[in-house]
Amino acid sequence: MASAPELRAEKLESGTSGAESGPKESTAEPRAHERLASIALGAYSRARPTRDPWRFAPSDPRPLPKRPTLTEEATLETMQERQAPAAMVNERLVRWSSNGLYCEAGGFYIDPRRAVDRAVITHAHGDHLKRGSGEYIASRSGIGLVAHRVSSRARFRPLEFGEPVELGSVRVTLFPAGHVLGSAQVRIEHAGKVWVISGDYKRESDPSCEPFEPVLCDTFVTEATFARAHFQWQTSDPVGEIFAWWEDGQRTGRASILYSYALGKAQRVLASLRRFTDRRVLVHPYIDPINECYRAAGIELLPTETLPRMTAGRSFAGELILAPPRYHRESWYRRFGRRETGFASGWMTRPGAARARGFDRGFGLSDHADWPALLRTIEETGATRVLVMHGHAADIVSHLRTLGIDASVLE
Ligand SMILES: [Zn+2]
Repeated sequence: MASAPELRAEKLESGTSGAESGPKESTAEPRAHERLASIALGAYSRARPTRDPWRFAPSDPRPLPKRPTLTEEATLETMQERQAPAAMVNERLVRWSSNGLYCEAGGFYIDPRRAVDRAVITHAHGDHLKRGSGEYIASRSGIGLVAHRVSSRARFRPLEFGEPVELGSVRVTLFPAGHVLGSAQVRIEHAGKVWVISGDYKRESDPSCEPFEPVLCDTFVTEATFARAHFQWQTSDPVGEIFAWWEDGQRTGRASILYSYALGKAQRVLASLRRFTDRRVLVHPYIDPINECYRAAGIELLPTETLPRMTAGRSFAGELILAPPRYHRESWYRRFGRRETGFASGWMTRPGAARARGFDRGFGLSDHADWPALLRTIEETGATRVLVMHGHAADIVSHLRTLGIDASVLE
């Protein structure tokens, strides 16, 4: 039976035209752009060993030889790029700019840091989405969240997952990233070469969003929020722990105040708790409209009630209350009487993390890939080059190089 990446490659190839299209061609020999890259970058492209992502050892502590930064690479290549042969365009199809990731051949930015003419958005978290751009392109299921968070005067262009569109001289296709509802990887194809920009992603199942799909590519740009070997999500069930904590609050007559990111994590909790109960949950007014975006996209959540602004005289005994982390302060939560506070986050997987941040409980629930999942994903893309951004990028770059993979920090 074909693996998921093979199936994805077949699907993509069937949807493209022309002899030079299709990710399977990425294994064709020998490639001019790789030879040019090896001249520009030095001898870092050793032959790749057969890799088993589940057997990767922790990072090799030995110092690495100095390698040109991307800025230096840009300087090296500037003169050649003015000639713009396809191989050189492919080599720097997406690059770092003052506005963030930029695809010049396509005329768009990906998750730009400030307003631009055309932005392809992986997802609507604040560090990936800024107001003021002229056009926002995002997945159909995620475009509502994007519109909720930016100016309504912008143009919004939804794309179905797997539906290619031509932008400039490149072909862009979005694939699910499994991070939050509508979160997308951006596949960019130019002259037979393929880049994939992952955005934030996770590999765990989540009833509130589409599951991650591995996509074969030549260059994979990956996030690295939790890219350290000690980040390995527990195999136990943090949502089951949240429900047990809530039940305990019902038995003992205290409120359970659960802090979680308003977009994504809160809805994941509300969707996942449906395995255990159909009870109503109180939610902070900031979370409420985001819940409605999810419901409009067909995601089933527990019934919710917006937390009233005036709470005097009301008992919250036994209630589960969802609120954004910024409200984790006594001046806000003391109104609920007897209570415990909890935080649902990947950061809570570290021993003592909850107490260190002033929470009674921590629930290790992450919407990012952990160390094994990052390595497994890189393996599944088949990429010959990996560019890493966000988080602990240097750690995973160092580790990938010990495996003979052409890896760099992209920022
Ligand atoms: Zn995110």
